[in-house]
Amino acid sequence: MAFLTRSRQFIFAKVMGQLPYRQELLVGEEKLLDLPKILVRDQILHVFVMTTPGMIKRGSLSDFFEGLNRNGISYTTFTSIQPDPTTDNVLEAKEACRKRGTQAIVAIGGGSVLDCAKIAGACIANLNFNPNSPSFLSKPLPPFYAVPTTAGSGSEITAGAVITKHIDGKHIKTPINDLRLVPKTVILDPVLTTSLPSSLTISSGMDAVSHVIEAYTNKFASRKTRIASETAFPLLINNIELAVKEPQNMQARENLLVGSYQAGLAITTNFVGYIHAISHAIGGRYGLTHGVINSQVNAFSLETLWRCYHGATSQAG
Ligand SMILES: [Zn+2]
Repeated sequence: MAFLTRSRQFIFAKVMGQLPYRQELLVGEEKLLDLPKILVRDQILHVFVMTTPGMIKRGSLSDFFEGLNRNGISYTTFTSIQPDPTTDNVLEAKEACRKRGTQAIVAIGGGSVLDCAKIAGACIANLNFNPNSPSFLSKPLPPFYAVPTTAGSGSEITAGAVITKHIDGKHIKTPINDLRLVPKTVILDPVLTTSLPSSLTISSGMDAVSHVIEAYTNKFASRKTRIASETAFPLLINNIELAVKEPQNMQARENLLVGSYQAGLAITTNFVGYIHAISHAIGGRYGLTHGVINSQVNAFSLETLWRCYHGATSQAG
């Protein structure tokens, strides 16, 4: 069994390491405001905008909505997405999206919003796809535009999404992996992350650091994985503290978004490891924040390694 799993990992890593990523990427301040023109270019007349109530309440999307109106694009907003989205959230989104006859999905939010939107898109395009017992996707998602508002999950580039199922009072997190889940267009706009509280800046940033460590140290790491990891690591580690001290520092915020994106590329061309395995199990069981658990497991692992190393060297000495 272990041999089969390792063989599958080896082949998947080789294939993913060679695949070119055909994804449109826009980076910079106020880049979200370019999206209406992109939708016009793609001949989209109605979009389903999945986001958080906070983004709407703070008015962070007002200029974007105005841009849609100016360009003759109608839209429906959907905000019933809880942290660690559930299959119920997905099915509700699917129904709302279908009723409106929307042609495309715009997901503006953190990893939970992006993951929920990806799986809802999978259900819309694939009539037989059931998020309660996911299978491979036979059809691509509707045109999907991802705009992350946290820098950490990397969901804007990964070929995966995580859904939480509630069975007999238990929360069970299920990862879904399929190349068709990779968004078509990604916009990294640092303005949208400036309102992120310090705690979320740190936990999501540490999630991305975990992605780098797990992908880079995995023995199946390809050249593409190593390059993405080496690009991501300094962008993350040099900017998390800076963004906490100076929340309005656009360069720090942009560096975190790009670092998180590159960390997402690293895990998509390879795998996450035992830190995420432990984190998903604990997070699903106790409903704890993904990034917080990852950083704790990371810290514990590093401390254990440190103790083992020093124990070994002092014994040897
Ligand atoms: Zn993660």
